[in-house]
Amino acid sequence: MATLTHETAVLRARDIADRVLAPAAGSNDKAGRFSTEAVHSLGDSGLLGLILPADVGGSGLGPRTFAAVTATLAEADASVAMVYLMHILGAATMLAARPSTAQAVTPILKKIAVGRHLSTLAFSEAGSRSHFWTPISRARRNGSGVRISAKKSWVTSAGYAQSYVVSSLAPDGVGPTDSTLYLLPAETRGLSVAGAWDGLGLRANASAPVALDDCEVPLSFQLTDDCAGFQAMLNVVLPLFNLGTASVALGLCRAAVADTTAHLKSARFEHLGQSLGESLPTLRAQLAAMQIDTDGLSARIDDLIEHLEKPRETTMLRVLETKAAGGDVAISVTSTAMRICGGAAFSKHMSIERLFRDAHAGAVMAPTGDVLREFIAKALLGMPLF
Ligand SMILES: Cc1cc2nc3c(=O)[nH]c(=O)nc-3n(C[C@H](O)[C@H](O)[C@H](O)COP(=O)(O)OP(=O)(O)OC[C@H]3O[C@@H](n4cnc5c(N)ncnc54)[C@H](O)[C@@H]3O)c2cc1C
Repeated sequence: MATLTHETAVLRARDIADRVLAPAAGSNDKAGRFSTEAVHSLGDSGLLGLILPADVGGSGLGPRTFAAVTATLAEADASVAMVYLMHILGAATMLAARPSTAQAVTPILKKIAVGRHLSTLAFSEAGSRSHFWTPISRARRNGSGVRISAKKSWVTSAGYAQSYVVSSLAPDGVGPTDSTLYLLPAETRGLSVAGAWDGLGLRANASAPVALDDCEVPLSFQLTDDCAGFQAMLNVVLPLFNLGTASVALGLCRAAVADTTAHLKSARFEHLGQSLGESLPTLRAQLAAMQIDTDGLSARIDDLIEHLEKPRETTMLRVLETKAAGGDVAISVTSTAMRICGGAAFSKHMSIERLFRDAHAGAVMAPTGDVLREFIAKALLGMPLF
């Protein structure tokens, strides 16, 4: 598969967004249908292997391209963008796995690079809810490997991913964050999708619960050292997850601005001989506010990317701030779009209400907006975060 550059990756994402995602986003949302066609297209285009190095067949691209691709997909279908985001995080965690896993994990990375393997994260548990950094489940020793039983409460791409990056307390862990990360292939005995996904938004991304019932995990699939899961969550997962969810938010905002602009141009007061946009300054002012907030989020994301490319003291603060801001901005911009587009949006004559529902997912996906604000303020005050 040809190696992608930043430009070709974004062009391919745009092509898939226009050709595959946009025509089906509305009906998939309505039916709560996971788009396997989207995943195949992402695989064929090389985008599933975006961040993997050339030696396993990937394109070796970084956060800048990941953010641009994710935002582009989200403009057409945020459900697919979230599937993509969780996959990239699964791939990043495998890539950062300890060297002793290479023999088992490298063939999977090669499959990802040729577009034939979708991964995801299974962190959140019913018992600790959004506090994913403190799993309730505890792995039990089983020879050199472990056995895991857990109730994973929401797992994007559940039932469609070929592998799950799973957190569990280490067998001998002492504290509540002493977790370890493991890779569970979808065919692992005891792993099952434990319910349906019928969310308010992101309805087409199969974020269903997954049950792990005494699943056997060999040592070769233990991705981190014992008790080193928490560090991997903080250093590998959190920066990309927060960047990715902010990018999904940006895509949603851009789509809301575009759809609202089109509506203001096309909807007319025939009795006045004017379009809505020509007629009402209040709607124009609200549209302008949407644009200002969208570009503000874009600048914030660029700033985070620069911090990730050149890490410095303020990088973690930016990681926390950008997801919190992305969630709030997406809700605000899509809410304004709902108001501007009035009854037409409310009665689902346009895609604005899907964007509005999808926008509400970012703030509740952990770390939630509330938790991020807690962490930011505690960091400023010099208080311990955990
Ligand atoms: C569409 C979707 C996809 C998802 N995909 C995945 C996935 O692929 N993998 C995965 O592991 N998880 C996934 N999740 C789970 C997600 O990350 C959260 O764990 C989940 O949404 C938390 O919901 P809850 O009801 O358990 O939250 P709760 O923990 O019950 O939170 C309830 C409220 O309390 C607030 N709150 C909680 N703790 C604090 C605090 N310390 N300070 C202030 N306020 C606080 C929250 O912000 C929230 O408003 C997904 C969730 C959704 C909605």
